[in-house]
Amino acid sequence: MYNPTRTTSYPSDPVNNGLRYHFLGGGEEVGNIGCVIEDKTGTKLLFDYGLSPSKPPKYPAAAPKVSDTIVTHAHIDHIGMVPWLNSSFNTKLHATGFTADISKLMWNDCYKVSKIEGYPLAWDKINAEESQSAWNRHEYNSINELNDWSWCLRRAGHIPGAAMIDIQTPEKKVLITGDFDTRNSRLVEGATPQKCDVLFMEGTYGGKDHPNRQEEEKRFLRSVEKVVENKGTVLIPSFAMGRSQDILMILQDSDFDLNIHYDGMGKTITKTMLEHPEMILNPSALKLAFGNSKKVSSKSDRKKALEADVIVTTSGMLEGGPAIWYLNRLRMDRRNSVFITGYQAEGTGGRMLLEKSRLPIYGNITQIDLETKRFDFSTHAGHKELVDFAKKTQAENVILYHTDNQTARPQLSKSLEDLGINVHSPMNRKSYIIE
Ligand SMILES: [Zn+2]
Ligand SMILES: [Zn+2]
Repeated sequence: MYNPTRTTSYPSDPVNNGLRYHFLGGGEEVGNIGCVIEDKTGTKLLFDYGLSPSKPPKYPAAAPKVSDTIVTHAHIDHIGMVPWLNSSFNTKLHATGFTADISKLMWNDCYKVSKIEGYPLAWDKINAEESQSAWNRHEYNSINELNDWSWCLRRAGHIPGAAMIDIQTPEKKVLITGDFDTRNSRLVEGATPQKCDVLFMEGTYGGKDHPNRQEEEKRFLRSVEKVVENKGTVLIPSFAMGRSQDILMILQDSDFDLNIHYDGMGKTITKTMLEHPEMILNPSALKLAFGNSKKVSSKSDRKKALEADVIVTTSGMLEGGPAIWYLNRLRMDRRNSVFITGYQAEGTGGRMLLEKSRLPIYGNITQIDLETKRFDFSTHAGHKELVDFAKKTQAENVILYHTDNQTARPQLSKSLEDLGINVHSPMNRKSYIIE
């Protein structure tokens, strides 16, 4: 468990040569990211500081004192521990305007969930509020200085506001992908490779390729239409940030005039996205899809939604939220279906439903006899995209992080080594030097 009084694993000795990096978390797993990079000029930067919303949550090691932190995007595994930083060190925070604007909502939700689940959090509500004023908002591609380094944010695909960090030190060009995808999604434009010497690349989908997105969307729509034809309702548990908006936009392409109800935190997030049209690939398509959905905002709305063709709602991994309320009612009628559209972490209700056709509903393990289908709408680069991207950056050194150390990373590492790239597979809480 995280203990803010514990001294950091980060070394206190100065860097004599090269670039030193040190993962506080996320070096050998997906989630709870935090990494410090430093060179001999003494310039030091932390990128991302998040927690994994597992049960119990997983935290990165305590960060050392840093003056500046760049947050790649607003997913909780990248941003969830930031209020602690600000309360401990008064750290300056850097991100895109959208990430900064949405952070309040993400932190509030994180705080609320920790209270409901009864897990301790290393920061308090006041720290989250104070962190709001620590944001420095940056446009993509606009150059900033940090002591002897200059840096800018680049489009990362993935979700609105997501950024790669492009850094020029006196000796090296460094690119940090954050979570990224080179393919366009409905919501965002894909990332473009940037030339660099050192590449920090996420490897969530190492060893796995995605199906063709257009075909997957067609398969999804035909499956929805089949359920609706048989007078059933499709429950689509979706992540509030990114996936639920993608799903709403895909549903617009149906040949049917679908009655779509939209529930959960995604509604507020969508409104914030629409305030940042520069972050969205096709703002008018999002506006149309959002406008065509019936927003659920009361108990009676929720009851009405049970008659809908489609319900798009949180939580995306069937860990509480309105999705569980709906499922508990929809499970009584076998004409209804559950479509899973996102990654289901181990130990979550969604994973259990896929593997065992049952899941906890209000504390009781409950058999679900509904058709359950799974679709791949991931906005992380797949194996092929990862290898292709690394190749195009021409990086000599590639550090693979945000990846499963047992399965994904060894496969990705092999593909990159075959190209003659120097691949690093870091462990957490250890320092490495790139000469
Ligand atoms: Zn992410
Ligand atoms: Zn992530």
